[in-house]
Amino acid sequence: MSQVLFFDYSKGRNPLGGVHALLDKSGFVEMIPNSGSVAIKLHMGELGNIRYIRPVFVREIVDIVRDRGGRPFLFETVASYPGERDTKQKYLNTAVKNGFAEATVGAPVVITDDEDKQEIIPISNRINDCELEQAKVPSLLLESPCILVVSHVKGHDLTGFGGALKNVGMGCVSSETKRAQHFVNMPQFNNSDCDGCGKCIESCPTDAIKLVNETVEREVSECISCGTCLFRCPLHCWVWPAGSKEKLQVYMAHVASAVLSEYKGRIGFVNFVQDVVPHCDCAAPSGQPVVQDVGIVFSFDPVAVDKASLDLVDRAPIIPGSTSVTPPDLLGKMHQTDSLVQLVTAEKLGIGTLKYEMVTI
Ligand code: SF4
Ligand code: SF4
Repeated sequence: MSQVLFFDYSKGRNPLGGVHALLDKSGFVEMIPNSGSVAIKLHMGELGNIRYIRPVFVREIVDIVRDRGGRPFLFETVASYPGERDTKQKYLNTAVKNGFAEATVGAPVVITDDEDKQEIIPISNRINDCELEQAKVPSLLLESPCILVVSHVKGHDLTGFGGALKNVGMGCVSSETKRAQHFVNMPQFNNSDCDGCGKCIESCPTDAIKLVNETVEREVSECISCGTCLFRCPLHCWVWPAGSKEKLQVYMAHVASAVLSEYKGRIGFVNFVQDVVPHCDCAAPSGQPVVQDVGIVFSFDPVAVDKASLDLVDRAPIIPGSTSVTPPDLLGKMHQTDSLVQLVTAEKLGIGTLKYEMVTI
């Protein structure tokens, strides 16, 4: 059983003090290497998203790391699909607009892309029909002697729920490895309602879709499974393949397992259970909160911290009118999937446990 520490917002204390309390009580601060680098891994939000982790919390973490003698930096990888974060420069510009710059958070912001040196990690322990054979992880991250994975707990269109596992499995890898996972979600075309409006053709970033004899055709080899066609089609002619949401979670857990198996330093996981919206930090907009803000949790176990976060969401008061679904797995049900698939797979792969003891501080 893993220990999960919980700073409860309902007690009316200063939330910024919660970050201090969690990192102190857990012993994470003792692991900060003197003069060594500390990667703070977080998603800095798509442009137009306003529900990502607030920079003021990150500044607090940076100050704690620096006070303990560490050299903090914010770490993130570019998005693998079109948007305002798909190149280093675009991500840096978006980060500044969203409040993440050295002047505000007190540490450098480092974004990597596939041009940066990557470690190739074989995925040999595969279960539940995972076909991924390797993951590519930026060397810069693996070389850091200490990592704090800071995650915003929210819903996700494909994985149901996004927390620490998603921040590692999808957020800590190359675009190539992100796409390899998303390959299972390549939208399928159902032509029964298509009126040939062309919106999917115009929006496809790789020109994979064409109109041939007044019928939409997609060249599979050119598709990067970004989902843009599905989101843009007004008649819902593109659909996610059956079972692909669960399959993506299986793949993501394998990649998270690969990343964590190769990491030789110290790592902790902080989840912010606040601004719990239906869609992920990549979405703009990401919707209105569905439950009241809950608090912050910490664990050295990524599975336990995510399971505790899911349970806290399920126990939190639902904001009236925000959703018609009910717990358990409120976020998974909102997206017609089972959010536990990623956690159960990760537990089977040995990177953590679903059983936890929650200690409220
Ligand atoms: S076909 Fe659809 S999923 Fe594939 S690249 Fe084009 S927009 Fe993205
Ligand atoms: S956006 Fe939808 S309706 Fe328009 S051409 Fe594409 S599939 Fe057909």
